[in-house]
Amino acid sequence: ATPTTTTKIQIKAEDQDHAEPIVTRNVLMWFRNDLRIRDNKALYAASMRSKVGGNNKFLIALYIISEEEWKEHDEAAVKIDFWMRNLTTLKASLDKLAIPLVVKTAPKKTDVAKVVEGVVSDMDVSHVFWSGELMVDERKRDRLVREALEKHSGVYVEEHEDQCIVSPEDVRTKTGNPYAVFTPFYNTWCRLVETEPHYLEITEMPDANPPEAKEIFAEHFKTNPPSSHPHPLDINEMKRRYPAGEDEAHTRLEKFIQEKGKGYHQGRDVPDQDGTSVLSPYLNAGVLSTRQCVVAARTANKNKIQSGDEGLKTWIKELGWREFYRHILVAFPRVCMSRAFQPKTERVQWSDNDAHFQLWTEGKTGFPIVDAGKRYLLLLASCMRQLKATGYMHNRLRMIVACFLVKDLLVNWQKGEKYFMNSLIDGDLASNNGGWQWSASTGTDSQPYFRVFNPLLQSKRYDPKGEYIRRWVPELKTLTEQQIHDPSQALSPKEFAKLGYPKPIVDHAEAKTKYLEEFKRALALA
Ligand code: FAD
Repeated sequence: ATPTTTTKIQIKAEDQDHAEPIVTRNVLMWFRNDLRIRDNKALYAASMRSKVGGNNKFLIALYIISEEEWKEHDEAAVKIDFWMRNLTTLKASLDKLAIPLVVKTAPKKTDVAKVVEGVVSDMDVSHVFWSGELMVDERKRDRLVREALEKHSGVYVEEHEDQCIVSPEDVRTKTGNPYAVFTPFYNTWCRLVETEPHYLEITEMPDANPPEAKEIFAEHFKTNPPSSHPHPLDINEMKRRYPAGEDEAHTRLEKFIQEKGKGYHQGRDVPDQDGTSVLSPYLNAGVLSTRQCVVAARTANKNKIQSGDEGLKTWIKELGWREFYRHILVAFPRVCMSRAFQPKTERVQWSDNDAHFQLWTEGKTGFPIVDAGKRYLLLLASCMRQLKATGYMHNRLRMIVACFLVKDLLVNWQKGEKYFMNSLIDGDLASNNGGWQWSASTGTDSQPYFRVFNPLLQSKRYDPKGEYIRRWVPELKTLTEQQIHDPSQALSPKEFAKLGYPKPIVDHAEAKTKYLEEFKRALALA
């Protein structure tokens, strides 16, 4: 079974002739990237199972810290810190329900199965629940864990699909294939969501354990998970920007819907305005479900998804992109295995100019809007810059800096993808890969390869007064709105030298020609 199948109870083959359900002892819920108690299908099902068969059955929660997995997936330290902070708030919520949280460490990813087996045997567990994951490695890990558990006679594993609102298997073209283009995907997805109400049903909270659980598992109630993870940024600033917990996520969601939802279609593209929800860190840690977001926006939009208020329907569509990229990951797993979605684009010969890549990461390209975007990101990557960090980048800027790296500097998009994952608090394999491949014109539904953003025009269009640039590139803060977008051209050489700001590292027109020639050559070879 893989997480791509719809929710169902998995029974190992040799148990098929056992009466189902087998005798329920304790029930284990293994939390992974679903750190919430509300609207969590696997948790609720685990809770219901623990009620089967009378007293003295308890629901136990498990979280496994697996540094090797984090490293392999390029998870940013700041994002791991956010997970740990959310784990602490999750524990507090579980404590109120008398559900103990057991936190274990698996030094190597191959130890994960042993760790789960150990907990199952130490805590007399008969059923294990989890939310299925989409990535190839995690699916493989889960298969190994399932196999190991099935060696324990009578241990049932129940995997719930909860990463997507609509199962990737359900959104299909007329010929039964997965969609590779967003708009038809989204139309089908909306039709399913609107006609089949179960997709948007919010799952109930788990029931509390009997109160004696507090005594029986006293040791676990006393032990706290790590409440932080070392990272190079300003710890207090990160806590202030991204407080942990479901309550915080819901407050943000409601506030966004009430105050900004209706203007989202206009505010979302202006980097200096906080016109977007900044819910991505919460969605990616599973503190909030995509379903909860769609339901909240749809309710505010008088139960409409594709019509009604322009802002709200646009926001729901963005959540649709999140779903789309998850479906792509399941249907075309090669995209997360260092492969381009469009194989013919793999013939592009990328530049090996590491110096350019380095300048890009440092925000020293000489293109202010790119540098503002990069500094925004750089702040989180570098502890040497003791500036306030955000760990987050506005979508428009992600597109601009990604396009610049690939099309102006001809650097392989995979380098940028990795750098983003290493840096972002909301790093998400599916969306990050989708965003990079879109920007690099190598992916599904990408912008066509011959569309190359002009960084100066983007700057004038999306930051017309230069406010965003002034905020993040202080060397330029005294410049006027006419000068700020292209200071090396707008000022005399002497005035420009005084700024201490670099000249553009490439000539955009020349770089564009070079990139187009290379892309055309690669496509012609295909
Ligand atoms: P809002 O505008 O409020 O949108 C609400 C939610 O919809 C977001 O939280 C997100 O979950 C989803 N969403 C919005 N836009 C997109 C999109 N284009 N693709 C997929 N989902 C979207 N998003 C990530 O969550 N993690 C990443 O690692 C990531 N990397 C990206 C890399 C590149 C090069 C690009 C171009 C985009 C990337 N995105 C990524 C998508 C998008 O930039 C962020 O989701 C968005 O900026 C998050 O801000 P928000 O929560 O305020 O979004």
